[in-house]
Amino acid sequence: MNPTEYTENVLRTESNDFNAIGSRLGTQDVVRLLHAAMGMCTEAGEFMDALKKHVFYGRPIDQVNLMEELGDLLWYIAIAASELGFPLDGIMERNINKLKRRYAEKFSEQEAFKRDLVGERQVLTDPQPPPQPLPPRVAVPIINNIIESAVTAQAQDLHTPTVHRTIAIGGKKEENNG
Ligand SMILES: [Mg+2]
Repeated sequence: MNPTEYTENVLRTESNDFNAIGSRLGTQDVVRLLHAAMGMCTEAGEFMDALKKHVFYGRPIDQVNLMEELGDLLWYIAIAASELGFPLDGIMERNINKLKRRYAEKFSEQEAFKRDLVGERQVLTDPQPPPQPLPPRVAVPIINNIIESAVTAQAQDLHTPTVHRTIAIGGKKEENNG
């Protein structure tokens, strides 16, 4: 398979109903969860990077930096938890209860392989008070403007390699040199 065939197959299988995707992005709850998910991934990457520098480049372990990245991760986790209506202490408790269900006494490889997913789900939902009601969904019409601006900017880039352009975001103009 050559790169062109590969790319054609990639594009054939890409989810590309951008109107539908844009409308699913158009609520505050999804935007907040996406912000949290992006942040958790990038902060986990920073934590990993600090370990990589120790293991592969011989730098000393920077405990303060690792603690800082844990705090950054927690910040994003708190945003997601708040959006989902679960207080952090409830999440901690449910997590431990789930693991107690999986490993009666302590970790064992045998029990790690034979998971009772239905039972674990039960533990996550049953014995605890239900999550707080979710806040009402708030429409974020700005998202469609951002997508439109991005598509226009991309189309312009294809035709003009000049890179200085202005993108409208939320009614504000932002200078973008990229
Ligand atoms: Mg960080």
